[in-house]
Amino acid sequence: MKNIYDQFLYKDIKASVTNEDFETSDVLRVCFQLGNICTYDCSYCGDGNKNGTHKWPEFSIVENLVLEIDRIYKAAPYNKKEIIFEYLGGEVTLWKDFEKLLILVYELGNKSWLITNGIRSLRWWEEYGKYFDLITLSAHLEFCDIEHLCDVGNILINNNVLAYIGVLMYPPKWNECLAAIEYIKENSKCSCFTKTLVKTTDDDTFGNEWGYTNEELDYIKKNTIIIKGSIKENEFLFWRNSKTREIQIRDSEIGLAFRENNFYNWKCYAGIDTLYLENNGDVRVGAMCRPVPPLGNWKKDDVSTIKWPFEPVICKYLQCNCGHDLRARKFKINDITV
Ligand code: SF4
Ligand code: SF4
Repeated sequence: MKNIYDQFLYKDIKASVTNEDFETSDVLRVCFQLGNICTYDCSYCGDGNKNGTHKWPEFSIVENLVLEIDRIYKAAPYNKKEIIFEYLGGEVTLWKDFEKLLILVYELGNKSWLITNGIRSLRWWEEYGKYFDLITLSAHLEFCDIEHLCDVGNILINNNVLAYIGVLMYPPKWNECLAAIEYIKENSKCSCFTKTLVKTTDDDTFGNEWGYTNEELDYIKKNTIIIKGSIKENEFLFWRNSKTREIQIRDSEIGLAFRENNFYNWKCYAGIDTLYLENNGDVRVGAMCRPVPPLGNWKKDDVSTIKWPFEPVICKYLQCNCGHDLRARKFKINDITV
């Protein structure tokens, strides 16, 4: 894409596009990796996500951290109005204190988002589902009980939670994936999307190490998302030209697929609009990039001593490869051609 835009921005509600100053952001998104224990052992999942080397933390440590982030980022110079905590595991619903964290975040007026394999009981989802704003239920067909997953999704939708079912299109289980999608169409109130298993190769192209056939890739392309009911707009990313004010909304998956993700030498607000809390305790400004060393360690340090960043970073990477990192505002430093 010939880039006629000099800003790459994120808003969590569509109304903002017409009403607000585009260049500020009153949302902080925190990707919070709490541990790496899981109930499944999916073939396509890296060991680090599931081998249990990072045990679940003490609740008091997490509580102090959440309170500190809330205190710091809702005050000047950040002035965030809302913090979205997006939890990653393993399977974080297994953590014995997860419910306490959900209630804490809720009572602070912040949001909880989750990607889960949906393993907890229907009773659990009835009781705690209402604490989430957005949930992606991942259907891993080597292990998943699709009937249970659809029942969970219906509970969430009935509680006004924005819930999707994502089917991981695993070629050795292709027919099971197709059957699951048909079952979801018939039995779930959730919209459903297909997720291709891809890995970026060294030569900067998407590999096909899972051996999709052309027919399979064609099916995925035609069934990227299957919409049920109306989709509530919860967030979007967009390019903007600061001179002409032209904007172009951009889905993060499409941005990554078409390699519209090079912000080399741009000013980037990772650490100010986004944070990444790793399961080894590192507090990082980027999820997949490391423009500066970790700010501290949320497991070991007194969090009141962490030096939170006040200034944006200058990107020194040729690709911004993570949907979370893309949500930090980015501004081109040099003038653009209009
Ligand atoms: S459910 Fe998720 S975290 Fe667990 S093994 Fe599968 S892909 Fe990995
Ligand atoms: S790679 Fe890191 S520094 Fe560069 S734009 Fe993305 S988040 Fe910002």
